[in-house]
Amino acid sequence: MVFKSQMNQALEEARAAAGRGEVPVGAVIVAPDGRVVASAGNRTRELNDPTAHAEILAIRAACAAAGSERLSGHDLYVTLEPCPMCAAAIAFARIERLYYGASDPKSGGVAHGPQVFDHAQTHHVPEVYDGLAAEDSAALLRAFFGARRGKGTTPGA
Ligand SMILES: [Zn+2]
Repeated sequence: MVFKSQMNQALEEARAAAGRGEVPVGAVIVAPDGRVVASAGNRTRELNDPTAHAEILAIRAACAAAGSERLSGHDLYVTLEPCPMCAAAIAFARIERLYYGASDPKSGGVAHGPQVFDHAQTHHVPEVYDGLAAEDSAALLRAFFGARRGKGTTPGA
């Protein structure tokens, strides 16, 4: 099968999240047969749920679609380096490949901070590919936080 990045759809989800006043992060999950089975953007404010990150919402939807708590063979695209919570969820879900856009030195948990996948205790380590459409992803975040600067909002995705 020819590799087809779904990062553009993840970016669309990120833009939609920004339009809802959410931190602009989007995620897409692709089944082993190449179908997109879930896509989501952040909804922490809308749902009053600090765990409602794009990756978590996409994993929940993809698991429901698969009728399984595991997503073996699935790929996850996300516009920003996953935080430690999402990285742990990606490991629990047995995601096969993780593609992410911008790196997140402040809140990331893959290449930064806890570096979740490097821990011996991690159940499953996906293949990780970073830097896909990183500049587009970072520009969305900069625009979002630039517009809100001084309004007392807390970053974090
Ligand atoms: Zn997260």
